[in-house]
Amino acid sequence: MQLTRRRWYGVAGILAMISLGACSMPGAPAATAPVVSTATPDLPRGEPLKIVASNSIIGEFVTRVGGDLVEVTVLVPAGTDAHTFEPTPADGIALTQASLIVENGLEFEPWLDDLYAGSGTTAPRVAAAGGIEALPADAHAGEDTQAGEDAHAGEDAHAHGEFDPHVWQDVNHAMAMVRTIRDELIAIDAAGAARYESNAALYLAELQDLDQYIIGMVAELPAERRRLVTAHDTLGYFAARYGFEIVGTALGSVSTEAADPSAAATAALVDEIRAAGVPAIFAETVTSGDLIDTIAREAGVVVAPPLYTDSLGASGTPGESYVGMMRHNAETIVAALGG
Ligand SMILES: [Zn+2]
Repeated sequence: MQLTRRRWYGVAGILAMISLGACSMPGAPAATAPVVSTATPDLPRGEPLKIVASNSIIGEFVTRVGGDLVEVTVLVPAGTDAHTFEPTPADGIALTQASLIVENGLEFEPWLDDLYAGSGTTAPRVAAAGGIEALPADAHAGEDTQAGEDAHAGEDAHAHGEFDPHVWQDVNHAMAMVRTIRDELIAIDAAGAARYESNAALYLAELQDLDQYIIGMVAELPAERRRLVTAHDTLGYFAARYGFEIVGTALGSVSTEAADPSAAATAALVDEIRAAGVPAIFAETVTSGDLIDTIAREAGVVVAPPLYTDSLGASGTPGESYVGMMRHNAETIVAALGG
């Protein structure tokens, strides 16, 4: 679990530890940490704070709140699958230069603990999803597959954490993440507080509008058509907020790292898709479409255009921003299921 925040010790705290000769304590930040100079509240303006964001969605949140007071490095590039990301040495270097590391948490970044420890950085880590009431990872597991589920469940048990990490699929949760990021930036850079506050307020207003836009879009879809099938279990929060039922997912897991399902599990999902009467199921931009194509063919339904689920889209695509990706998803879902 990465819900626990590693609290920022603060410059004063570090100086106190140094003066007490306590900096060799296990877990204490190193006295030479570059973060001491960059995070000072009297930091001369003109030198942006270096912030590392684990993925493109969080990177945009930090950029919108921080504006030109921050310089953001994103570890998992847009369009790439965060569940199975393999960091490079350059990512470790980025951590050592950072004043703050913002991750999603809820075990969305299973590779980050090792990267953090290996880099030797002393930058504080914050889980943007830390304050959010998370859904359990297995919310839909029991409904999915009957035959073949046993073998699959065994393989699956270690492929994901206890909670569903995809909190940003509910715009209200994205707003909570933005507030957390705002508060953390203020905590390390009090001199920028007014700017962080006003940047965040503007962005939060946009997100409020986005939430209402999605509610309005979904209202066009009769309630009995609000049924979703995706490649992996990524839309639980979207479903909970905007009134959808998750019929099932091809991988039957909140992680794309899960092994391919057994033939029996796939057959059971095909039966459920037919029984639910959905006209379309959804590919995702971050995972291979082969499995979803096979399931759609067998169920006799259409594969809708891919949804932006776990990452922003590439520059120039509708999903290049969080607002764009969520609008695109809502429009795509309503068009595909309404037809
Ligand atoms: Zn995912």
